[in-house]
Amino acid sequence: MTAQIIDGKAIAKQCRKALKGRVKEFTEQYGHAPGLGVILVGDDPASAVYVRNKEKACEKVGINSFHRDLPATATQEQVAAIIDEMNADDRVHGILLQLPLPKGLDEQAMLARIHPDKDADGFHPINAGYLAVGKEGYVPCTPKGVMTLIESTGQSIEGAHAVVIGRSNIVGKPQAQLLLGKNATVTVCHSRTRNLPEVVAQGDIVVAAVGRPEMVKGDWIKEGAIVIDVGINRRDDGTLCGDVDYDAAAERAGWITPVPGGVGPMTIAMLLENTLEGAIRKAESR
Ligand code: NAD
Repeated sequence: MTAQIIDGKAIAKQCRKALKGRVKEFTEQYGHAPGLGVILVGDDPASAVYVRNKEKACEKVGINSFHRDLPATATQEQVAAIIDEMNADDRVHGILLQLPLPKGLDEQAMLARIHPDKDADGFHPINAGYLAVGKEGYVPCTPKGVMTLIESTGQSIEGAHAVVIGRSNIVGKPQAQLLLGKNATVTVCHSRTRNLPEVVAQGDIVVAAVGRPEMVKGDWIKEGAIVIDVGINRRDDGTLCGDVDYDAAAERAGWITPVPGGVGPMTIAMLLENTLEGAIRKAESR
């Protein structure tokens, strides 16, 4: 079998197009655009690029972005003060605190400081709890985008065995919750899993979110499986690759996402969607 490629770039483009229409409707109905507050602490070049891309994406669909920069020497109190300002700012419906924060700052404390109603990244413990109990709230962008990619195959998630590799709070755990919410049978693997190849081989759906170049081998993949590669890794020669050995896995999978051009573009599209949905919830609660 040779896998069909799940074109995340094209699917994300469709999502952004639909969002642009919804943002326009929102803005006409309520007299203001949705707004995303973006906080960048420190001078990590990769984070600066991510932030710029997110702001550009906002602009293209008509979402306002409000940017605040802080130096790498910023104290916890200074970061908290900016978060508090954005929590109180009615123009801001979603807040994005770009991670990782410089060493010495408590990431979990800062994420928990963001008001749960403005938690566009869905990392606040209250939103993680809502996801766990199946209540409406913000859902983390990457796993949310992965669900759209899986659904794009037209295959049923219900009853399928989904194997999630990775248990981080931002990808693996919420991914498992989302798949469970769609009635998949879910197995979560991690660094201590003993027989990873055998477990992965049971997956009708495999989501790899580890951060190790091409560690998931092609012969682990069940024939016809849906393979979603969340990993973004740089090879020694500078080129990008995922967590899955793409060429070999594509020989066995039914569907597979490329890296780049798979999950990455969806993450930004979902951030825009979360911001709009936050703005709608706020407007409707008035
Ligand atoms: P993380 O480091 O927080 O978590 C990695 C997980 O992998 C851990 O739960 C760990 O237990 C597991 N793991 C480590 N070694 C393993 C092994 N040998 N076998 C099985 N599991 C193992 O990483 P993260 O933040 O979840 O990100 C994972 C990857 O996804 C990274 O490459 C990251 O860059 C990428 N990512 C991509 C996007 C995107 O938009 N495409 C978004 C977030 C993360």
